[in-house]
Order: sequence, then structure tokens, then C-alpha cells
Amino acid sequence: MTYMHKRSNLLIVFLMITVVLTAQTGDLKLLDWQPVSQMVVKETKIVKAKFPVIDIHSHLGRLENTEKYLEEMDKAGVWKCVSLDGKSKDDFYKEHLKVSQSVSEDRFLVFFRPDMSKINEPNFGVNEAKKLEEAVKLGARGLKIWKDLGLGIKDKSGKLVTVDDPRLDPIWAKCAELGIPVEIHIADPSAFFTPLDKYNERYDELGSHPDWSFFGDEYPSKEEILEARNRVIKKHPNTIFIGAHFGALPENLKVVGEWLDTYPNFYVDIDARISELGRQPYTARRFFLKYQDRILFGTDTPCDAEAYRLYFRFLETDDEYIDPTPAHKLQGRWMIYGLYLPDEVLEKVYNKNALKIFDRFKG
Ligand SMILES: [Zn+2]
Repeated sequence: MTYMHKRSNLLIVFLMITVVLTAQTGDLKLLDWQPVSQMVVKETKIVKAKFPVIDIHSHLGRLENTEKYLEEMDKAGVWKCVSLDGKSKDDFYKEHLKVSQSVSEDRFLVFFRPDMSKINEPNFGVNEAKKLEEAVKLGARGLKIWKDLGLGIKDKSGKLVTVDDPRLDPIWAKCAELGIPVEIHIADPSAFFTPLDKYNERYDELGSHPDWSFFGDEYPSKEEILEARNRVIKKHPNTIFIGAHFGALPENLKVVGEWLDTYPNFYVDIDARISELGRQPYTARRFFLKYQDRILFGTDTPCDAEAYRLYFRFLETDDEYIDPTPAHKLQGRWMIYGLYLPDEVLEKVYNKNALKIFDRFKG
């Protein structure tokens, strides 16, 4: 074979490879890629949780759905559900309490949510604390704080109101006095504070919700927000704080453990974070065993028996390669692994830890 022949044969092979690769990948965008797993693995069906469940993090603010919520709760074995939508604004909490109580006397608990838009008013903290007290008299059983504190609410000086702003002190103190907990959702997943580029592990999610990104000069860092929250927890040792979304740092359980070691009045809940916990199942399982008295169950998902069942499967079984998307929404492109928690730990997470906190209620 001549040199020229060899060259043309090589060229043909090269062209064939190029044609095949183009046909396989040319038109498919990564965002359209929906791979179907070929893994043949155990899939445990759980209809109801092993113990009665208290869901500490739900949103029942669309009051017309309250009865439907109760039906879904019954299907999945959920005993009580906390709604965090008892807004102070326009006294919405009153209507919320009335509707919840009319559907069920004891299955719904409503948390009061202060009206941060009044931050500039003199005596803001004292006034909202007074309103909180009235709400508790009517049946409210906790306080909810949202991430707009630290990331969205600005006062008349144009500055973001930080979580440890002293104007809020009367509210935290009132919670201790009344014996009610604070469900505190501060900051967001770590990926929301990093650039929205090819390295971002939540690119799909942020791509469809660009307003969820808190990366940039106009926002404080996640660390600053969490430090401010921890200063509040330290300053108010008699107030119970439940850190929503696993204390806002499920990506780093070592640090969450250090917080729990440092602040005896701090708890965490698992809502909307099984996707983070379940991708580090060995560490997460050890964490649940060690801090079994400090973790609460929550979902933060529209009430749906199937979503609850996914949480139960994650906590109760050793199933592998579980798609967590139906439990909340797409939160990164990865699968999760069950924690197969022992019964004693499960019962604490499902209800005992929450009951212990609600038992402090002094109303
Ligand atoms: Zn929520």
C-alpha cells in the first residue's frame, strides 16, 4: 500500500467517526437530556410512615385547599401539619386560624409571620410582638421568619435589614416568653450564592428561576447571613430556633453539627433538603444518629401523599439511587440513597422532637 493510500484510508475512518458522533450528540442539549437509569434496584413501597408524622414546614395559605390537605395527610399517615403562612399583614393569620380550626381542631398548627414591611415604623418590634401575642391567644403556635430578612427587606436608609437587626429583638424575646418556637428560613442553597455558569451544580434550577440567584455585590455572602442568624440564636438562649432546610447548610454537615453543639436552643428540619442529605448517605446517617434529638421532619412541598412517601422511603429504607425530584422539584442532577434509620431515631424525627418543643408552650 502506498503512502497516499494509507492517508486516504485514515481520512475516511476519521470522517466516519465524525459523522457518527455528530449524529449521536449534535442536536441534544444538556438541558434536554433526560437519562433513564438502567439500574435494577430495590424499590420499597411505603404507604404510611412508621410513626405518626408532624410536618413542621408546610404552606397552607391557600385556605380553600385545607380540606384537601387533610385528605392527603390521612393517606400518608401525617398526624399534624404546621402552616407557616399566618401572616400578620392585613391580619391574615386570623382567617387562617379560623379556617384551619374549622377543618380540624388539632391537626393543623399555624405559625405567625411578622410584617417586615413595617420595619421603619417606630416600635416595630414591640408592635409585632404584641400582635404575635394576640395571635397566640387565638391559637398560633410559633413564629416564621423568611429569607427576605437578610436578602430582600430594606429599611428607609436603603440598606438590607440583617437577621440580627436589634429592631427584631422584642419579637425573639416574646417567643421565649410565650414558649413558642421560631421556624427560621435564612439564606438558600450554597449554589444560589455562586456564579450562574457551567460550574454551578444547580444550573438547571437557577436557569429556570434566575431570580433565585443571590450572587453579586448587592447581596451579602451566605456566610455573613448565617453568622448574623447565629448571633441571634446566641443572644436569645431561651428562644427555640428551628433552622429550616437543615439549618440552611446541608451541604456541610460538619458545620451544622458544630452549631448544634454550640447552641442548645437550635434545631434543624429536613424540609426540601433530602436531595442534599441523600447524596451523602453515610455522613447523613451518622449525623442523624448523633443528633437524633435535634432534627425535625418537614417537607415544604404542596401537600401530596406521594411526596410524603418519598420522604418516608428516604428516612426508613436502604433503597438506592432514588430520584428525589417528585418530593420537591429538580434540585441538582443526582440521585439519593436511603438512610434506614432505626425506629427510635425515626420516631424522634417524625414526632417526638416536635412534641418536646411544643410542650414548652405556656399559653
Ligand atoms: Zn417554606
